[in-house]
Amino acid sequence: MDRKEKAREIDKRLVKAFGQTLPASERDVTHELIHAVLSQNTHRRNYNLAYSRLMEAYPDLETLTHAPLAGIEAALKPGGLAKQKSRAIKEILTWLEEERVDCSLEFVREMSVPEARRFLTSLPGVGPKTASVVLMFANGRKVLPVDTHVLRTAARLGLIDEGTSAEQAEVELEALVPPGARPRMHLNLVHLGREVCHARGPRHEICPLNPVCDFGQPRD
Ligand code: SF4
Repeated sequence: MDRKEKAREIDKRLVKAFGQTLPASERDVTHELIHAVLSQNTHRRNYNLAYSRLMEAYPDLETLTHAPLAGIEAALKPGGLAKQKSRAIKEILTWLEEERVDCSLEFVREMSVPEARRFLTSLPGVGPKTASVVLMFANGRKVLPVDTHVLRTAARLGLIDEGTSAEQAEVELEALVPPGARPRMHLNLVHLGREVCHARGPRHEICPLNPVCDFGQPRD
């Protein structure tokens, strides 16, 4: 089975096991970007809490843009990495206000995917994964963001080589997975990584991908 066929088989099995719903985001592009920055290297429960606290303290972008850095940091404290993330959010909003007059990123919706990726990754603290997450959730683009779960599971499954960077993995996985299947493949691999294919102690015995995964087979 070549990698393209394997990706198709994996998609089929994951859809059967976990489904394929991409929840529609209710956030605009700027809020989605703030949410994605908060999610970097942070557990889901903590970044969702940090986002809610930030929105409670500063309900609109105007207020948030002009909020003191210390106030943003205090709101983000329970989410972890508050110092680094408050600085990134402040820098992004200040940059947008200075360069674009307001903090709206809605114009990104009109850009092609490569253009939008280039633009978003030019913002302070925004890497390729964050850019792709924003494009997928806020903009419904057919991309396949690579986070730590996607990177680990894709390597174990043999879709990419061990040691491939996240950035390169995104290019390679998007070449293997047809556009319509990319968002659900992202969601399902994240789910697989969180619930079954843990970094330590992967649960091969209950994994729906066991028959197509060399890593999960017993070794001599
Ligand atoms: S069989 Fe094991 S290593 Fe392979 S995807 Fe499943 S849990 Fe991960």
